[in-house]
Amino acid sequence: MEEVLKVVIIGSGPAGLTAAIYCARGNLEPVVITGRTPGGQLMITTDVDDFPGFSDGIQGPELMDKMIAQAKRLGTKLIYEDVSSVNLKSHPFIIKTETSELKTRSIIIATGASAKWLGLPSEQKFLGKGVSACAVCDGAFFKGKVIAVVGGGDTAMREAQHLSKFGSRVLVIHRRGEFRAQAALQEAVKSKANIKFLMNHTVEEVLGESKVTGLKVRNVQTGEVSEIQSDALFVAIGHQPSTEFLKGELELDDRGYVVVKDETRTSVEGVFVAGDAADQKYRQAVTAAGTGCKAAFDVEEYLEEIKLPTDGTPY
Ligand code: NAP
Repeated sequence: MEEVLKVVIIGSGPAGLTAAIYCARGNLEPVVITGRTPGGQLMITTDVDDFPGFSDGIQGPELMDKMIAQAKRLGTKLIYEDVSSVNLKSHPFIIKTETSELKTRSIIIATGASAKWLGLPSEQKFLGKGVSACAVCDGAFFKGKVIAVVGGGDTAMREAQHLSKFGSRVLVIHRRGEFRAQAALQEAVKSKANIKFLMNHTVEEVLGESKVTGLKVRNVQTGEVSEIQSDALFVAIGHQPSTEFLKGELELDDRGYVVVKDETRTSVEGVFVAGDAADQKYRQAVTAAGTGCKAAFDVEEYLEEIKLPTDGTPY
């Protein structure tokens, strides 16, 4: 008889791995499809100071290694591949990866989100040559250099703060006259002597030959275009959820976030969501972990509701 799993978790950041830990302890024998880079966004983070339980802080990759080890110890099976498609209209649901096809009675979507780009051709040309969306990953390459950051939210402030440790000068470029970042972060950034601000400006083009040497910027109030010198551009204009593969299968909002019906339940019965794939607001490791826990409980409740056959026959 073909195997029908009780639950498959798609994604292996704090949301997915916490869901796995709780599902494993609930005897649901979870399978996690990790994606090709297991661990999610914390894998490209250094110091994590705000995850409770680590009094001296912890490195992002180390925290994720611990979560993976904990999920495995409790009996989670991991598949280190990307999902290529899902069929949420069939029962059981079908999930295809590059090399396998899984059938499952329930799914937890925990695919997270990734950085947004400005959409300039020159931005793509200089990716890895001065253009980045991760100060923690790439900031140290620009010691003593002039660094530009575009954006006005919490991410931009955090990036600027981190980059101010390396750059001789950090210039935050924002398209409006005020930031949307939380006041405390704005204050922290404004108190750094080497962080400067260019308000009411957009980045029109990244300039350079083999590496970034400057930016073409436009004053949105006057329309005036000018060039400024910069050795790097860090794009910090928000994130987009990694939910492309769910289009047409599950209700998504106009920004691609999974629409939540009740706690972690989605528009498809038996499909649940945890973490940044449905969270535009908090986007923290600990809130992702919290929703992962909730999703695991909701899966358990759902499987009881549909009276999961104990002999493994499909319902
Ligand atoms: P965000 O709050 O959506 O801010 C994005 C910023 O980029 C805005 O200032 C926006 O300008 C600007 N922007 C967007 N598209 C742009 C474009 N095409 N060109 C130029 N500028 C553009 O995103 P976020 O900063 O990533 O934060 C998202 C959520 O995560 C927030 O809830 C935040 O609180 C949370 N977060 C928290 C922390 C923390 O340390 N607690 C850290 C990071 C993120 P406008 O203001 O004009 O729209």
